Amino acid sequence: MERLLTFSPEHEMFRRSLRSFLEKEIVPYYEQWEKNGIVDRDAYRKMGAQGFLCPWVEEKYGGSGADFLYSLIIGEEMARFSLTGFFAFLHSDIVAPYIASFGNEEQKARWLPGCVSGEKILAIAMTEPGAGSDLAAMRTRAVRDGDSYILNGSKTFISNGILADLVIVAAKTDPQAGARGVSLFVVERGTEGFERSKPIAKIGMHAQDTAELFFDDCRIPAANLLGKEGYGFYYLMQKLQQERLVAAMINQAVAEHCLEITLKYVKERQVFGKPLSSFQNTQFCLAELATEIQIGRTFVDALVMQHMAQHNIVQEVSMAKYWICEMVNRVASRCLQLFGGYGYCSEYEISRLFVDARVQTIYAGTSEIMKLIISRGLGLK
Ligand SMILES: Cc1cc2nc3c(=O)[nH]c(=O)nc-3n(C[C@H](O)[C@H](O)[C@H](O)COP(=O)(O)OP(=O)(O)OC[C@H]3O[C@@H](n4cnc5c(N)ncnc54)[C@H](O)[C@@H]3O)c2cc1C
Repeated sequence: MERLLTFSPEHEMFRRSLRSFLEKEIVPYYEQWEKNGIVDRDAYRKMGAQGFLCPWVEEKYGGSGADFLYSLIIGEEMARFSLTGFFAFLHSDIVAPYIASFGNEEQKARWLPGCVSGEKILAIAMTEPGAGSDLAAMRTRAVRDGDSYILNGSKTFISNGILADLVIVAAKTDPQAGARGVSLFVVERGTEGFERSKPIAKIGMHAQDTAELFFDDCRIPAANLLGKEGYGFYYLMQKLQQERLVAAMINQAVAEHCLEITLKYVKERQVFGKPLSSFQNTQFCLAELATEIQIGRTFVDALVMQHMAQHNIVQEVSMAKYWICEMVNRVASRCLQLFGGYGYCSEYEISRLFVDARVQTIYAGTSEIMKLIISRGLGLK
């Protein structure tokens, strides 16, 4: 079926040049990054030099002012090479938009060019040991002291936590005001009182440097407050639509890739003297998965169009985040089954896609939290 989205010849050219760049400059090194537990910092610079980071940033800050389809293409192509632990999408389409939307002129001029070039790698730190789904329970404090804020507290599970040069940190400036007492700060690499853990050992996403961050009397200039004091929660809510859409887009592409490699494998693999693909179980299994994947594709593309038209689709995007992240797990697991024992071996791509899929129903809002939002939208309280 033809896609709902229309790509121009420029989009297609961009896709082709990105694909050959990834093949040459990223894919050959990825396995080593999985072993190292971290993506090479240089990979961001190389992506930046080719215009593959934050393409949407205004030209005056070094970007190309490109539309959202370019971000979608980057996410899709990286997913198709199974680069699931290289969080360029987090840098470009989740964190940088905070600076562009809520930063003042001085902040944008100071930080955005480095985000585009890959000199400044980004992370966002909301989650704490005692505050994940219930973010309002966060305890990290920021206290104003003259021209500075003093930050105390810790964050956990922070993606790009080791690589990050700029971390957007959510902290309470008024603990009595609940959600209205949260503010966002940009904490820069090297700030005294800002420490990081080693990468957290995980069952998958091995190339992703997820870490804990610690702030101990960490003095940051008041000029690093993003937007207005007390508006942090409101800003986070405002950016959730794109964050969850990006998660849905990428997982949709991963599901498609799982199907693609499995279709190839079942045609090659011989069992009982004939191709695995000739068994009705294989055919029906793949027919079911292809149907789910097609439903996801139509939904995601429709949402991308609405997002680009700046419609409020928080409810629908929550449905997509929930359903597609669950779907990619079903797809990866059932595809792995068709690989038999080989599917359980790290050497096979499907095994990485399977373990990397597992976290998708957990971060960027768990499936349960998505269902909570959807039920509220249905008027259920
Ligand atoms: C690999 C990885 C990368 C991450 N990257 C980042 C990052 O870059 N920045 C960041 O800030 N955070 C990040 N996170 C944190 C992630 O967003 C949280 O793990 C997630 O929000 C869940 O919070 P929690 O782990 O504290 O689980 P909890 O909130 O303790 O949830 C435990 C279980 O309870 C369920 N639950 C919670 N509340 C309800 C409810 N009201 N109703 C029904 N069920 C409920 C949850 O759905 C879950 O199943 C990352 C996490 C991982 C694992």
